[in-house]
Amino acid sequence: MPFVHLKPGREKPLLRRHPWVFSGAIAHVDGNPEPGSTVELLDSKGNFLARGAYSPHSQIRARVWTFDPSETIDADFFRRRIRGAIQSRNSWHVTHDTDSLRLIYAESDHLPGLIVDCYVDTLVIQFLTAGAEHWKETIADILLEETGLSTIYERSDADVRELEGLPPLSGSLRGNPPKILTINEHGMQFSVDLESGHKTGFYLDQRENRQRVRKLAAERDMLDCFCYTGGFTVNALAGGAKSVLSVDSSAEALALCRENVALNNLPLDHHEILDGDVFQVLRKFRDEGRSFDLIVLDPPKFAPTAAQAEKAARGYKDINLLAFKLLRPGGLLVTFSCSGGVDAALFQKIIAAAALDAGVDAQVIAHLSQGPDHPVAFNFPEGAYLKGLVCVKS
Ligand code: SAH
Repeated sequence: MPFVHLKPGREKPLLRRHPWVFSGAIAHVDGNPEPGSTVELLDSKGNFLARGAYSPHSQIRARVWTFDPSETIDADFFRRRIRGAIQSRNSWHVTHDTDSLRLIYAESDHLPGLIVDCYVDTLVIQFLTAGAEHWKETIADILLEETGLSTIYERSDADVRELEGLPPLSGSLRGNPPKILTINEHGMQFSVDLESGHKTGFYLDQRENRQRVRKLAAERDMLDCFCYTGGFTVNALAGGAKSVLSVDSSAEALALCRENVALNNLPLDHHEILDGDVFQVLRKFRDEGRSFDLIVLDPPKFAPTAAQAEKAARGYKDINLLAFKLLRPGGLLVTFSCSGGVDAALFQKIIAAAALDAGVDAQVIAHLSQGPDHPVAFNFPEGAYLKGLVCVKS
């Protein structure tokens, strides 16, 4: 097995069990390991640190599979990790009341680069790194054996593949998966487009927050910004919202949002969609003096890394300031950030500044995050990306 020797002092993250080795930490590599092949990671004195997947095109040159010197990286290794991830979800009752969930969340489940979501009886997988790609066929076979399912749709079309020197790929990997299917979550049905929906098709990470919005929505006029296929919209209507206006800039997402409202036999006359840019729509509504009792802001990632945090902060402040202005007294703002580069503390500061500049008094009544099928391993804090606040305007 090829050896990767680290520079003096650069073993520290690995000793803290962080699973990444950056190219700058490497002194030299013996031989010329193939992309995705297993290498032995050694400190500057030649001591074993970990065993991981080599990725010659990425700044993250190696990702750790195991810190255990006695553990071999083979099909049995993947079976143990996959089985562990699935069993732990069963034991936390994540599967209660939903037929769709994330089974494997990459580094957080000690399987870097591998995302596996289960939609009813179809697995949707992203192989995002050279290491995950290298073991693709083995992983696919084990997943079917461990779940007893027979279909896999591959959605390895995320931009991050490019950093690994891998082409985008999507399509059937096993069996004959449907392109569109209907999932059931907390009693609500959603049509999910596995072929061209965002991520693997649906924002599974927002499951518990959707349920919370359902509980908050009764008798309220709601504005659902960045609504995608209507996760929050459907729940608000099911919770008895007086009206819901769903805004998104994607016509396809809005069409599916409309379909999802109908699928749940919710009152179509209480629901409107608006195709537009949320930044402009909020300004227009402010100028027209419109107001709402409940506003959800769930924008796309403004800052994938900390480097874009400042620009992202301006974007978050802008939409949240406008939302505070559009809220009636006693109104609720449910606001999210899924930017890895903006942590929960910074996000709360941005929202506080938005309230201040909007001239409103507001309180935080709940802190929200991603659901338990998207766990955060202590050795990989980067796994925590979704944060949200429920705020009340005085
Ligand atoms: N709230 C959704 C997920 C939102 S994803 C859910 O729970 O399922 C972000 C959405 O924002 C996408 O649907 C995307 O089409 C939309 N979007 C991105 N930029 C936008 C903009 N400037 N104005 C309106 N919608 C936008």
